[in-house]
Amino acid sequence: VVTEKPQKARSGAADVGVAISHPDRVIFPDAGITKGELADYYASVAGILLPWAANRPVSLVRCPQGRAKQCFFQKHDAGSFGEAVHHVDITEKDGTTEPYLYIEDAKGLLTCVQMGTIEFHGWGSLVSDVEKPDRMVFDLDPDEGLDFGDVKKAAEDLKAHLAEIGLASFAMLSGGKGVHVVVPLTPEAEWPEVKSFAERFSRALAQAEPDRFTATMSKAKRKGRIFIDWLRNQRGSTAVLPYVARAREAAPVAAPVSWTELKDIDTAKRFTVKDADTLIERSNSRNLAGWGVADQSLPDV
Ligand code: ATP
Ligand code: MN
Ligand code: MN
Repeated sequence: VVTEKPQKARSGAADVGVAISHPDRVIFPDAGITKGELADYYASVAGILLPWAANRPVSLVRCPQGRAKQCFFQKHDAGSFGEAVHHVDITEKDGTTEPYLYIEDAKGLLTCVQMGTIEFHGWGSLVSDVEKPDRMVFDLDPDEGLDFGDVKKAAEDLKAHLAEIGLASFAMLSGGKGVHVVVPLTPEAEWPEVKSFAERFSRALAQAEPDRFTATMSKAKRKGRIFIDWLRNQRGSTAVLPYVARAREAAPVAAPVSWTELKDIDTAKRFTVKDADTLIERSNSRNLAGWGVADQSLPDV
């Protein structure tokens, strides 16, 4: 008796009902990945990506001719995305109101890919209440010359310091050079309070260990250090979302990892667009159970 291995239903772009034009166009020349394959990647991971990416303002990195050609960062809805991509009006600092993009389902996700999107970056708040962040992100940006071991050590130290003040945090490989330390928040405090907290927390670390950390953006101050980029936590800023493909060499993806797993990982580009099955399997593993979820508020410090 031949027993067939149960086939996992792995959906492609076609199953989502979005027609992908130029599916054979090579988007990642180095990895030989086409637009059709990128669309299939996003269709496959939609179920694990959308819990993080849906219903929050997003900015897109669009590279219609592939990552090696011109790319642009798009914040506002140009009105050309059709009905699966929504917009939410947000008032800017200068008082003008702009339509920001958001998606709520696989169709919206794939529509953006059809429009040449590679990367999705999200606000730290949901469209239902854009003024109250539901997450804080510490984006660890190492100076050139530092190795990934230094970044991991920094991430673990942040986690420990956050735990001391009662905050659970989670690690995500950026798919680039760094690690993002993600702190889920119950949406209560507004942006100024969250930004102020993130800044004070980061500056305190940099002051305590000035040889390892800086909380100042300037490249000159970064020499041999890790910049704790707390500026992701101001109104209007974005950070790359979990399971998003990066428009970088070899098509790496941003990937949640457990603190235990992180110890054995030696690059922020550990997973790529070719790892959809692995990422889906991993997301259901015990290691990642509860990743990114915590009902918690900023402490009074
Ligand atoms: P890495 O690990 O390589 O640093 P990263 O995603 O953290 O990867 P950063 O250069 O630190 O990359 O980017 C910080 C954030 O700035 C991005 O996550 C993105 O949301 C935002 N960003 C990127 N490009 C632009 C842009 N052109 N305009 C505005 N914001 C941008
Ligand atoms: Mn970074
Ligand atoms: Mn940064």
